[in-house]
Amino acid sequence: MSQHNKTDAVERPVNFIRNIINDDLANHKYERVQTRFPPEPNGYLHIGHAKSICLNFGLAEDYQGFCNLRFDDTNPSKEDLEYVEAIQKDVAWLGFEWHGEPKYSSNYFDQFYAYAVELIEKGLAYVCFLNAEEARAYRGSLTEPGKDSPYRNTSPEENLALFTKMKQGEFKEGECVLRAKIDMASSFMCLRDPALYRIRFEHHHQTGDVWCIYPMYDFAHCLSDAIEGVTHSLCTLEFQDNRRLYDWVLAHLNDFNRPDRPHQYEFSRLNLEYTVMSKRKLHQLVDDHLVSGWDDPRMPTISGLRRRGYTPASLRDFAERIGISKVDSMTGMDILEAAVRDDLNKVAPRSMAVLDPVKVVIENFEGEPLSIQAPVHPQNEAMGKREIFFGRELYIDRADFLEEAPNGKYQRLALNKEVRLRNAFIVKGERVDKDAEGNVTTIYCTYDPETLGKKPADGRKVKGVIHFVEASKALPAVFRIYDRLFTVENPVKADNFESVINTESLVVKQGFVEPGLDNSDPEKAYQFEREGYFCRDNQSGNIQVYNRTVPLRDTWSKK
Ligand code: ATP
Ligand code: MG
Repeated sequence: MSQHNKTDAVERPVNFIRNIINDDLANHKYERVQTRFPPEPNGYLHIGHAKSICLNFGLAEDYQGFCNLRFDDTNPSKEDLEYVEAIQKDVAWLGFEWHGEPKYSSNYFDQFYAYAVELIEKGLAYVCFLNAEEARAYRGSLTEPGKDSPYRNTSPEENLALFTKMKQGEFKEGECVLRAKIDMASSFMCLRDPALYRIRFEHHHQTGDVWCIYPMYDFAHCLSDAIEGVTHSLCTLEFQDNRRLYDWVLAHLNDFNRPDRPHQYEFSRLNLEYTVMSKRKLHQLVDDHLVSGWDDPRMPTISGLRRRGYTPASLRDFAERIGISKVDSMTGMDILEAAVRDDLNKVAPRSMAVLDPVKVVIENFEGEPLSIQAPVHPQNEAMGKREIFFGRELYIDRADFLEEAPNGKYQRLALNKEVRLRNAFIVKGERVDKDAEGNVTTIYCTYDPETLGKKPADGRKVKGVIHFVEASKALPAVFRIYDRLFTVENPVKADNFESVINTESLVVKQGFVEPGLDNSDPEKAYQFEREGYFCRDNQSGNIQVYNRTVPLRDTWSKK
């Protein structure tokens, strides 16, 4: 079963699809619930897909039904095994288990062919030799009806012979297509005798060179659902009109003209601010080298978010928070980040990392570094302790020191001012060394040995806590600080990506982490105190590279 806890159906927010399912079960339209997630293997999955995955697999779980993972692989020229594998990995990582083996529309190519033959025999499909340009002219427009193709009234016998020839490779690519005979005057363009099969001399990643005709997506999609016994076929709103075609196809086939055939319901897609979501656009980012690949941590792909430190729980929670409706809208990044922050705040071990180091020498400390036990999580004792060190040489963040403390609420280190080092002692700034340009190179301090985990005995007040690492034990590390990929809310509206890409979406820093992170697992998030949530990069091997998942506080609302 999936790794996350089952949630009772009643606990989840009601949405229109749940209402439909509840009615269908009450009216015995179906006695079970079966859904599917049907990606085309032509790219990596993005967070929009995660919404659809959570919906389909979530419903199947809640209603004790099942959900197939099915690749709608009808377009071999755009598809690749790399995507088939990546998609399976992403769905499993999200914590969902598909029913049985992964399914492929290409598993049903023989059946599709037989159903096409049935339509031809019923006089409901014909082979059409109009070229692409003619076909477009015949189709008409939104304001004008189309015209019947001159091939529309060919007899079923003749069409059968022509379709057989198509299958046998006796026509050239583009020479003819099989079309459904529906209604050239329909106000739904997709019902104006849509193509069902086309010729493509392409190698297919599942069926090899067996076929030179391939079903169109619309024909294959509704048939795959019907063959698998899907009850509720859920998809995004842009398929609203296509539903009429799906219903027409199933209503005209003997196997599927029954009330318990699949019914389609549409919901609105997820759109996220400051990024793009369609696979075509994501392809473009990768191909134009605007990102390092599909799993670049700035990408809204599931693999990018995973590499960035997002957890499966946070993405499922996000899907829950945005809900399901028919209203088109733009979702703010703050909602996505709040979901991961809420999860990581509970589960991420605490640690200290210095991203912009400046050296500190504790003049009154001598000898070997001192080992200190610090809590892994301040609110969760069960997570145990970790070993950190304090010694003569430390690093703190450059931003945590000023020679002269400004008046008022300054709570960091300054000369003649005390501050607490997190999990360790109170220290006081004494003097500094500087380089020729006047930059501070070393801060000399003294420490109060009586203040480890204790307030000063004399009752003096020390405000402010800063983080640090002990220099001889700390591990050098690279930090990648990510920001929004685009400078505008809706980049799709821009003329080109180059003009709206955020050139500062990745800033690299060199610093240090605690020695305990030596064997930190890739993708496992830590809270680096005061700096944000970070995880070890999953592509950098033994080098200590940390990707910032999110800052500790929301930065979207004020930008
Ligand atoms: P894209 O437009 O990104 O290329 P697609 O719809 O072509 O996506 P498919 O592989 O066909 O991608 O999608 C599989 C399923 O995921 C479909 O049922 C589709 O409706 C759903 N889906 C795709 N994008 C989103 C989104 N942004 N929000 C919610 N569901 C989505
Ligand atoms: Mg698609």
